[in-house]
Amino acid sequence: MPSTNEQCPVTNEPAQQAPSSAGDFAEFTCPTCGRFRVARSAIQQLSEMPEELSIDALAKAKKRAEIDGDEVPVIRSFDLVLS
Ligand SMILES: [Zn+2]
Repeated sequence: MPSTNEQCPVTNEPAQQAPSSAGDFAEFTCPTCGRFRVARSAIQQLSEMPEELSIDALAKAKKRAEIDGDEVPVIRSFDLVLS
């Protein structure tokens, strides 16, 4: 199975999407953002947001992963809500 070439939904750069992405999340590896997951329900909205807001959402997910001790940050729909 070739790994698909996808766009990073945060920075819109070419990024790798893990072919094994399954379930409710898609996993991306981006040269700028690193490795992260996005809830499927949030991908489209994330990719349509202005980049600075997407980066902010990723930053929230990274901070939460740090606190929770998760290996991979997960961007969820509620991270896209402006605070
Ligand atoms: Zn990116």
